[in-house]
Amino acid sequence: MAALQPVRGTRDILPDEARQFRHIVDTGRAVCARYGFEEVATPIFEFSEVFRRTLGDTSDIVTKEMYSFTDKGGDDVTLRPEGTAGVARMLISGGLSQNLPLKLFYNGPMFRYERPQKGRFRQFHQIGVELLGVPEPAGDVEAIAMGAAVLDALGVAGNVTLELNTLGNAASRAAYRDVLVAYFTVHADALSEDSRARLARNPLRILDSKEEGDRRIVEGAPDFADSLDAESSEFFAAVRDGLDAVGIAYVLNSRLVRGLDYYCHTAFEFTTDALGAQGTVLAGGRYDGLVEQMGGPHTPGIGWAAGIERLALLAGEAPDAPRPIAVVPVGGDVERDALTLAETLRRAGFMVELGYRGNLSRRLKRANRLRARAALILGPEEVARGAVTLRDLDSGDQEEVALTALTERLSPYR
Ligand code: ATP
Ligand code: MG
Repeated sequence: MAALQPVRGTRDILPDEARQFRHIVDTGRAVCARYGFEEVATPIFEFSEVFRRTLGDTSDIVTKEMYSFTDKGGDDVTLRPEGTAGVARMLISGGLSQNLPLKLFYNGPMFRYERPQKGRFRQFHQIGVELLGVPEPAGDVEAIAMGAAVLDALGVAGNVTLELNTLGNAASRAAYRDVLVAYFTVHADALSEDSRARLARNPLRILDSKEEGDRRIVEGAPDFADSLDAESSEFFAAVRDGLDAVGIAYVLNSRLVRGLDYYCHTAFEFTTDALGAQGTVLAGGRYDGLVEQMGGPHTPGIGWAAGIERLALLAGEAPDAPRPIAVVPVGGDVERDALTLAETLRRAGFMVELGYRGNLSRRLKRANRLRARAALILGPEEVARGAVTLRDLDSGDQEEVALTALTERLSPYR
């Protein structure tokens, strides 16, 4: 029965994976905090205009991937496909442009109607950052260094390559656009239908096409480097010099254009061979024109986003679950005392699992399965003496401990 399945491209996140996701988000947040970034959250849906106006009406997201609907009040809204447009909207509607520079970290679900496969879902999750109000190339260097530091802290830096390109300023892009139109027009018959449509509206995006036939034509396309003006070349040189200064290795990829329309100057992706076709793990760039394009004040920006599912696939095993203390009542009528003891310890800050049923060995087996570090065994005699038996489940050592001394004695098991 279809209604009892998760919707195609969505999935349930069970405890092991949830712990891994949390670890990724916590690591990202903590690393970015070292750079002065603070967490924000924007709504999961926005007026569709927010995305349509910013992502560009030839982008894959806007043409094919948006989850848009008319709500009961007649508003046209869209589940956010990415985080930057919402943050830019927040900057404008919240009047935050008085407080620049803004250094923002976010995480949460994103929605794109794509063909699901390994590392590609319709609901997926991202961590991301936006640095707003910094036109200097130092901002690009810091953003990239911060991405590298997050990947390093997650232990995946060895599996990724930083690819770097520049999209130049508006004048360079206009010049390159003309060169590209001339080139692709000659090959128009061999281009995919999508790319032919882009030829008139946004020829740069053809460079990003994943169609086999397009790729062959793209290979022979002129290089952006030849269209860069002095300002654009200088900016790019400063970014590369900064990366060298902080010891971050990269490879230049002149075909790297990013899927969205709002980028300029620096574009970068951390990619891997380990995830098949879904090789981009963390991607970003500079978007100086975005806020203005949305109707706000001119506000330079740079940011990146990383897919949590792809980071999790790369990072492998989830970190271990925390280890509880097991409270194990045995024999007689001590269930009530066990319940009280467990609750007292939890109020004192311990993680406690209560063995609900079965004989001693069954309850201990369950405690071991939960990887408990210690068991507190209590039967009628212990209760009468105001004590419990503390068994260290790693060493097997056990001793009787008076209830009055228990929290003190348990402090190594916290
Ligand atoms: P791709 O080329 O793989 O479609 P993209 O250019 O559309 O990626 P971005 O919009 O830059 O991706 O999003 C940043 C990151 O979010 C990607 O590098 C990837 O890790 C992740 N991501 C994007 N789309 C998906 C998806 N459908 N499922 C899972 N992760 C995704
Ligand atoms: Mg995509």
